[in-house]
Amino acid sequence: MNPDEKVVYLTFDDGPVPGPTEFVLEQLKKYNAKATFFCIGDNVKKHKDIFYMIQGVGHSVGNHSFHHFNGWETETESYVNDVQKAREVIDSQTFRPPYGKIKRAQSRLLLKDYKIVMWDVLSYDFDTTVTPEKCYQNVIQNVRPGSIIVFMIAKSISESERSTSKMSGVFGKEWIQNGKTLRYLSFYIE
Ligand SMILES: [Zn+2]
Repeated sequence: MNPDEKVVYLTFDDGPVPGPTEFVLEQLKKYNAKATFFCIGDNVKKHKDIFYMIQGVGHSVGNHSFHHFNGWETETESYVNDVQKAREVIDSQTFRPPYGKIKRAQSRLLLKDYKIVMWDVLSYDFDTTVTPEKCYQNVIQNVRPGSIIVFMIAKSISESERSTSKMSGVFGKEWIQNGKTLRYLSFYIE
């Protein structure tokens, strides 16, 4: 992460889920923002059209495993196999461990084929007891140039809509007026 870089990276985990994914794409489009979607292989297999839609409008995708296993509770061989299984449907050399939980042996093996992408800012939008305002504050108060922010693709449209105010705040004009621009995560990786 380069602290001189005036960019922040938006990432969305756990999609593609029909409904909420299109909703997020609409929000991003309003602000001309690009993001990286760390997709679950099983979801990609079920919703290929949405997976292609994400890339079709200019966002990038990453591997978030096939079954979303917790690395700390999974045998290394099964864990690595699960990531490779996701690779059959997700053409990407970036991997984000589900829950951010990965054993050293697992990352050692996966680093041969992938760049492992964590995050430094968590919005907590996956926790329905956290208000959208608080999610927004979690981002705004912790973000720095070069930050990687993680959001979740919600399970339902209503959950997704709940986060509108938060998204608008993060993607909106005041953000750009602060001299920060939004770019693909892939620029960071290259
Ligand atoms: Zn996840």
